[in-house]
Amino acid sequence: MSSDFSDADITALVHENDTYPEQVWYTIAAFLFVVGCFQWGSLIHSKFARRRHHESDEETATTNAIQYKVSLRRIPLAIINFYRVVAFRWTLEIGQSYTLNMAEVFVTVAYIVLMLIYCFINTTSVEGQKLDIVYWSNRVGMLASSQFPIITALGTKNNLVSLVTGISYDSLNYIHRMMARTCFMLLWVHAAGEVVCFPSFRETLNEDWLRVGITAMVAFSILIIVSLRPIRTEVYEIFFYTHFLGALIFLVGGYYHTKGAFGSYWIWPSFVFWALDRFIRVVRLVVFNHSYFGFKSGSGTMDAVTELLSEDVVRLRLRRPPHFHWSAGQTAYLIMPSVSTLPFEAHPFTIASFDSSLLSTVTTEDQSGSDENHETQDLGSSAPFWKELVFLVNVHGGFTKKLKEVAARKGKVKVFVDGPYGPSPDLGSYDTSVLVAGGSGISYTLPVFLSVIERVRKGKSNCKRVVFIWSIRGAGYVRWIEEALIKAVQLAPPSLTVSIRIFNTGSPSMVENALPMEEDSSLSNPTEKKDTPEQVVTREGSFTSSSLFSLRGVKMESGRSDLDALLKEEVSVASGSMSVSVCGSQGIARAVRHALRFPVSGPSSILSGGPSVTLHVESFGYA
Ligand SMILES: Cc1cc2nc3c(=O)[nH]c(=O)nc-3n(C[C@H](O)[C@H](O)[C@H](O)COP(=O)(O)OP(=O)(O)OC[C@H]3O[C@@H](n4cnc5c(N)ncnc54)[C@H](O)[C@@H]3O)c2cc1C
Repeated sequence: MSSDFSDADITALVHENDTYPEQVWYTIAAFLFVVGCFQWGSLIHSKFARRRHHESDEETATTNAIQYKVSLRRIPLAIINFYRVVAFRWTLEIGQSYTLNMAEVFVTVAYIVLMLIYCFINTTSVEGQKLDIVYWSNRVGMLASSQFPIITALGTKNNLVSLVTGISYDSLNYIHRMMARTCFMLLWVHAAGEVVCFPSFRETLNEDWLRVGITAMVAFSILIIVSLRPIRTEVYEIFFYTHFLGALIFLVGGYYHTKGAFGSYWIWPSFVFWALDRFIRVVRLVVFNHSYFGFKSGSGTMDAVTELLSEDVVRLRLRRPPHFHWSAGQTAYLIMPSVSTLPFEAHPFTIASFDSSLLSTVTTEDQSGSDENHETQDLGSSAPFWKELVFLVNVHGGFTKKLKEVAARKGKVKVFVDGPYGPSPDLGSYDTSVLVAGGSGISYTLPVFLSVIERVRKGKSNCKRVVFIWSIRGAGYVRWIEEALIKAVQLAPPSLTVSIRIFNTGSPSMVENALPMEEDSSLSNPTEKKDTPEQVVTREGSFTSSSLFSLRGVKMESGRSDLDALLKEEVSVASGSMSVSVCGSQGIARAVRHALRFPVSGPSSILSGGPSVTLHVESFGYA
């Protein structure tokens, strides 16, 4: 420490060390509050809009006739659409696999700037030394430490931020990583600053507070390295356990290191948030899987049936656990100790079935309730997509590869279900809903499609037109969901136009599930896994889906879908509000984002009566 450092300096820096982290917290809290207001405001608005809509259906019919006149009353709507395009559809693409939307870029830049401002403002000492290292080196450490409760919370599945903002926990994961990386850099700045600041650094190396601090930083550095995308993708399990251990060592070390500087109160809440999340997850696990825990007879009733639908897709079906209810588009974590390498490995999958009273029938409920029926199901038939938990699993290299081996022999597995997680899209206030899926992306769009039909039937939705677009690599894929689609079309009320467009880029034969794609990288799954020619298989017996394709509005086309043209066409015939939901590869997500930028959702389109378009991209955590 410089010798001319006075008591006045100490008073100032102690005060700033206390107050600046608090001010950063207030700023973040205010930001979350504003985002929360928008989210909840828009939710409430859509509920009211639905009610108003019902009352003014006739009026809408007349306004539609004059919709192409520019209306200044639509300026707020044009502004909202402008914001949506700029914030969520303009993207920064780094290489092939990194896509950040402008909202994420803004949050990243704003957070880094906020932290840097608080780190380096008012660092002129009483003696007039500008950017005095004694002022900022300690403060940087304190500011970074103060961020760990929120960083921890953002990394958990049950967190308050998700509740307040309505943003799903997996979307918040980007913010979790971004904040952690920013604080990591700041903590190294703090460490370097302290080394420079205190020439006696070496002599204090034997003091515990410093040793735990160094240990914490080593653990944090390893954690940051293994969480880099290439490593996380390649060796997820190594990332997962290193992350757990690294975070634990870092937080315990950080707690003791900051204790001497009276800063540990910033660290311990992290443990509370983490423990709360674990507690909620354990309670859910026990409640939903209680037959395994000996609370009730009937052990084994939750064994799942596995089927290999194609070379790279496994279907998993199990009886809905008692009390387990979910909404369309939600996710559950599946734990299968007999399949996974480590007993508590949990993998997230979107629930492809739909929890519906309307769509269920005696027959399907019977099917879902009986193991024998599971066994007699035809391989690949689309059977019960309601009242049963159904998952479509893309085969990758780890856990899912082992699951495929089980499915190849039509084995049964014990499954613990943890969930449901994530928000369910509320499409009730939209006049048009377009659902776009590639391959197993229908895990997301199928239940949403079924829920639109059910809600229109129940009078809870204004939807007039629903478009279901599905790109597949082989005509045989249609079997997976054929029955559900037929039933949905039959149940659709006359007020609702249903259009189902299936694009088959693989074999035109109904008898084949030919998987490989020569040039189409945008299909099949969100991780853009490609199959090798050796994986071409011809499976399944005869399959005719004439009953599906004989229905009005259902079409199968050969070749790749032109999403740009399809979406522009839908926008041109739509009025009112339109939602587009997409779940597929990064290629599909990109094509949809591109199609819905300017001028399609631009101010001139909106001002002259074009539909207000909302886009939701579900990426299975990768896009
Ligand atoms: C919200 C959400 C919903 C999803 N829904 C589906 C779905 O309906 N169908 C589907 O096929 N896939 C879905 N996924 C992806 C699925 O969880 C992973 O593909 C699966 O866990 C890969 O397991 P693996 O061991 O075979 O993967 P690996 O071969 O080890 O890795 C393949 C990829 O999966 C990621 N991954 C591996 N394990 C996990 C894990 N436990 N949690 C998150 N990511 C992991 C890796 O980072 C890597 O990018 C979803 C993911 C998320 C986040």
